[in-house]
Amino acid sequence: MMPLRIAILGSTGSIGRQTLDVASRFPERIEVVALAAHSSSALLLDQARRFRVTRLALGDPASAAAASLESGLPIGAGSEALVELASAGDVDIVLNALVGAAGLRASIATLRTGTTLALANKESLVAGGDIIRTLGMDRVVPVDSEHSAIFQCLLGEPLEAVARLWLTASGGPFRGMTADALGSVTVEQALAHPRWTMGPKITIDSATLMNKGLEVIEAHHLFDLPYDRIEVVVHPQSCIHSMVEYADGSVKAHLGATDMRVPIQYAFSHPERWDAPAPPVDFRTLGTLEFEEPDTRTFRSLALAYEAGRAGGTLPAVLNAANEVAVAAFLGGRVSLPVIAETVERVLETHDRTPADTLEAVENADAWARRAAERLLP
Ligand code: MG
Repeated sequence: MMPLRIAILGSTGSIGRQTLDVASRFPERIEVVALAAHSSSALLLDQARRFRVTRLALGDPASAAAASLESGLPIGAGSEALVELASAGDVDIVLNALVGAAGLRASIATLRTGTTLALANKESLVAGGDIIRTLGMDRVVPVDSEHSAIFQCLLGEPLEAVARLWLTASGGPFRGMTADALGSVTVEQALAHPRWTMGPKITIDSATLMNKGLEVIEAHHLFDLPYDRIEVVVHPQSCIHSMVEYADGSVKAHLGATDMRVPIQYAFSHPERWDAPAPPVDFRTLGTLEFEEPDTRTFRSLALAYEAGRAGGTLPAVLNAANEVAVAAFLGGRVSLPVIAETVERVLETHDRTPADTLEAVENADAWARRAAERLLP
């Protein structure tokens, strides 16, 4: 059997590094043919040497020039180079793990080329869901653990029999806190996620529940279900990765090791299953599984995401962009955690919604929202 030829966009981030770990465990099944990152040139070059990859790109032009000089290799520079890697005809699967709204162009290029898209860049669907849907959702394989879980629970089932999706949320490090207490949490506390190892942006989004909000919008597009049939339940143990409830009251839950390499690997192996990258769950020692309703009064971001998703058009792109700017301000120590949701809410309120069916419309809304959020922040 020929190995799957994969391109990894965002190879130096948390998902990218775990993807390379999966690839290293199955050298006869996975061949890494292209790597791209934003600006971490030293790690990109190290990965290129280890996996003998010569097709490389860096989104940041200055980093690309420096890396090219250091290595003597031609390294594509800028967002156009990322799109070029995604458009190569000899790639079987593009794993898009770029951070933020920059991933949408690459996702569109991947699908236009007819290549399978293993999607770890939520923003592609949050901001560009209306575009991605027209390009063929049947070639999109979710990498996000919740969506991979739902994808697996749906196997062999008719979509019209689905009553509801249940997305599980760990609740983050501040579960149970009052709005007052949330105002004085530190960046370090917010970065200490109790269950998953992830990059800083998504870890903050988990602490505010915005991550779950983005995932609700993602699920709406991936599985073509209305928002009133997508529920969020807080499940602190993160053992159930998500569930599908059917018309007859049966519920399928996906359980397993809390390790991102499992859904990453499944995006490559499905419908096959390959050997586990992590120890299996031992139900004898699992203990209690808890479930509770999310506190959307304290964690406003989740409610805002539902509102933006339901309204549709450019509002989800605006939600996402304003959130990115506000999260950066929090990480930079400029604002407290609750200011993230306050900023997003105020930006959403002042946006004139338009359809989001072209890249131009989405990128204009994204740029507008970033400027609007910056104006509100200190
Ligand atoms: Mg997730």
